[in-house]
Amino acid sequence: MIIAIDGPAGAGKSTVAKILAKKLGFLYIDTGAMYRALTLKALDNHVPVNDEAAVIRLAQGVKIDLINNPDGPLTVMLDGKDVSLAIRQPRITQFVSDVAKIKEVRQVLVQMQREMGRRGDCILDGRDIGTVVFPGAQRKFFIDASPGERVNRRYKELNGLGQKVEEQDVAADLANRDKIDSTRQTSPLRQAADAIYIDTTALSIEQVVEKMYNSCKQNG
Ligand code: C5P
Repeated sequence: MIIAIDGPAGAGKSTVAKILAKKLGFLYIDTGAMYRALTLKALDNHVPVNDEAAVIRLAQGVKIDLINNPDGPLTVMLDGKDVSLAIRQPRITQFVSDVAKIKEVRQVLVQMQREMGRRGDCILDGRDIGTVVFPGAQRKFFIDASPGERVNRRYKELNGLGQKVEEQDVAADLANRDKIDSTRQTSPLRQAADAIYIDTTALSIEQVVEKMYNSCKQNG
C-alpha cells in the first residue's frame, strides 16, 4: 500500500507521516530530504543553483539513501555520507526550491522515489506525491494549516534543532518556498482531486494521526 501526503511547508507533514508510518509498520520516505540533499551537493561543490545544466549533471550522478530508524529521526545519506543534519541548515532551505523547480532534476528524483516505493508498504511526503509520483496511491492526504500556524510550527522545530532564527525570517522563507513550489511549471504543489484535505490548524498531532490512521484502516 502506498500513502501519499502532500501540502505546503510547515504544515506538519513529516511529523505526522513519521508517526503514522511507525503505527502502520510502513517505510517512511521524506522526499523533501532528497531535494535538500541534492541542494547540499550543489552548494558544497560551488555550483550556483541557477546553473541548471550543472545542477542536472549533479542530479544524474547523485546517490541518495533514506534509512528508517525505529526510534529516531530518519538518516539521510548523500553519496555515502550522513547529511541528516546538514540538509536542515538555513542555506539549504533558502535554495532548495530553486533546485526542485528544475524539470530534469525532478525526473531523476521522482524515478528514485518510485523505486523506493516499490520496496513495500510506504508513506511518502512531499509536494507532488499524489499528483505525479504515485497518482495511483491507495490513500492521499493534503495536510494544510493557516500561514500563521505554519510559521509557528516551523519556528519551534528550528529552535528544537538549536538554530537561532527570527520568526519574521521563518515567515519569509515559508512564503518564498510556497510561491516557488506552487507556481513552478513542473509538478507544482497541488491537492490531488482524490486527496483527503485536513486543515490541521486547530488539531493536535495526535488528532491528525488518528484521522489519517482511521482512514487508512477503512476498506476501499
Ligand atoms: O518537505 P521540505 O520542506 O523539506 O521540502 C523542501 C523543498 O523541497 C520544498 O520546499 C520543495 O521545493 C521541494 N520538494 C518538492 N517536491 C517534493 C518534496 C519537496 O519540490 N516532493
